[in-house]
Amino acid sequence: MSITILPEEVASQIAAGEVVERPSSVVKELIENALDAGADQITVTVREAGKRLIEVVDNGSGIPAEELELAVHRHATSKLSQAEDLFRVSTLGFRGEALASIGSVSHLTLSSRVRSADLGGSIRVEGGETVEVSELGIPVGTSVRVEHLFFNVPARLKFLKTDRTEKRHISTTVSQYSMANPGVKFRLIYDDELIFQTSGSGNLQEAIAVVHGLSKAKQMIRVVYEDDKIRIGGYISPPGLTRSNRGEMLYYVNQRPVQDPALSKAVTQAYHTLIMKGRYPITILFLELPPEDVDVNVHPTKAEVRFDDKGEVFRAVGRAVRRALLAHTPVSEVSNLSGANLWGGPTPDNRAVRRDVDPAWGMLDDSQQRVPFGQSVDSGQIAAPLGTPVLRLIGQVAATYLIAEGPDGLYLIDQHAAHERILFEKMMANRDSRPPSQALLDSVVVEFSPASADLLKENLPILAGLGFEVEEFGPGSYVVRAVPGLMGETSPEGLLRAAVEDLEVDETPLEGKMEEKIIARVCKQAAVKAGQVLSPSEQEKLLQDLESCQSPRTCPHGRPTMIHLSVDLLERKFGRTGPM
Ligand code: ADP
Ligand code: MG
Repeated sequence: MSITILPEEVASQIAAGEVVERPSSVVKELIENALDAGADQITVTVREAGKRLIEVVDNGSGIPAEELELAVHRHATSKLSQAEDLFRVSTLGFRGEALASIGSVSHLTLSSRVRSADLGGSIRVEGGETVEVSELGIPVGTSVRVEHLFFNVPARLKFLKTDRTEKRHISTTVSQYSMANPGVKFRLIYDDELIFQTSGSGNLQEAIAVVHGLSKAKQMIRVVYEDDKIRIGGYISPPGLTRSNRGEMLYYVNQRPVQDPALSKAVTQAYHTLIMKGRYPITILFLELPPEDVDVNVHPTKAEVRFDDKGEVFRAVGRAVRRALLAHTPVSEVSNLSGANLWGGPTPDNRAVRRDVDPAWGMLDDSQQRVPFGQSVDSGQIAAPLGTPVLRLIGQVAATYLIAEGPDGLYLIDQHAAHERILFEKMMANRDSRPPSQALLDSVVVEFSPASADLLKENLPILAGLGFEVEEFGPGSYVVRAVPGLMGETSPEGLLRAAVEDLEVDETPLEGKMEEKIIARVCKQAAVKAGQVLSPSEQEKLLQDLESCQSPRTCPHGRPTMIHLSVDLLERKFGRTGPM
């Protein structure tokens, strides 16, 4: 074959492969165009997770009818005209690629009117081919309808995740831009249901409240920082408000949402000793620096940027976050927290309170102790069925581990992992019978982000089957009236959040698997924590319950619940036997 220049449609389809990965990529590009056009109202309508329809309507400046054909042409843009412009891009778009790319893999209808024209125009493109141009009366602004996305790229369609996952990506995208543009009124409608709406009042905290819920938004700490190179503003969560992944650490560079692991690292380092390992804060941080100090043209979807002085930017971010945190938390409290959090535990005061109110433990009395203290274990004792050794409690170390003697040496037991295992097996055993449920004296209202609310809604039947009584209370709000009996006094809000938040489900989980996942998460939340002092009877009860578990040696997530130091090992270590 000889070398030829690819036809326009083929070139566009190739470019589309980079720009349009999934429905949320379309939403991102169309929102960026609307923002670049100065819109202050943007409505996103989605059907069938974006595969059937994505429509973005804005009230921005519009496109003159005679330029509609150009707009859908590749490398056609009104945002730069010469190469130097690339070094000071102030718009979100500049590549002139999005509409052409989207049009090459969907049925795209672009309709628009500028203020100076009485009529608007409309152009329809199917798989990269213009099929219709018409005039019509419409309000000033632009509407882009994208139907049958990937109709001609079956491979892409096949690789899309479940509708729920694709919808979650779309909500995340809309949330991201709504927080960066609190002056713009965003609406998101899924299959005729309005699931998200910001006021456009210009108040950032208000926009954060729509995304994260009012109670979280109220707790967020303000960040204000400025030096001669960079300005940093926004909000970060206090050390007590964390997530299990980095998904809610957002950064914007000159209003553009970017992903940058190095920025996340700078932020997490600033939280060092304040939050547990494996937990991440929520951040909405805006970095402002001269456009010529950032290269935005390094990534096809512009999700990454390159800083001229990377090190300086990261140091500034670290300083900004650290300062905000220290200003928020008095010094004495910081040292207090870091000490207690060595094991992720609550501060000593909370610990005492928690222990008293936890009936799963409180029910115990000393008569339930299986082996009285001080009584030595008969060396002839046989292991209990299912491979669980019969253990004699020795005590608790570091308010985190139990020490026990077994027939063959010493056992160190992680109290949190062990309790997780116990609760997990009890709940799994209960789930087919109607489990005992505990009504709350005061029902609790919990607010969720659109993505979590969606997941919760879908899994309400599972939660009901576990003994939760939860009901929708308004968009994103749920009221909890009862929790599973086993959960005792664990905060109902914490339990419900644990059940669905951060629960990334990319594959369609089997019904049973989803239930198991939720049970494991709820148990983790309810389990006694490391750093919590347990009374001797509570320690005994824990050992006893662990012994009756089917898989006592690991927690539901596969971590060990116990470490065994055999008599044999002890003898070798002390040089009593063996080659020492
Ligand atoms: P880019 O945004 O990189 O310029 P696009 O393909 O996204 O490229 O859009 C091409 C051009 O179409 C833009 O430069 C802009 O002039 C025009 N355009 C696209 N969407 C809108 C909109 N919502 N409102 C006004 N003009 C738009
Ligand atoms: Mg664009």
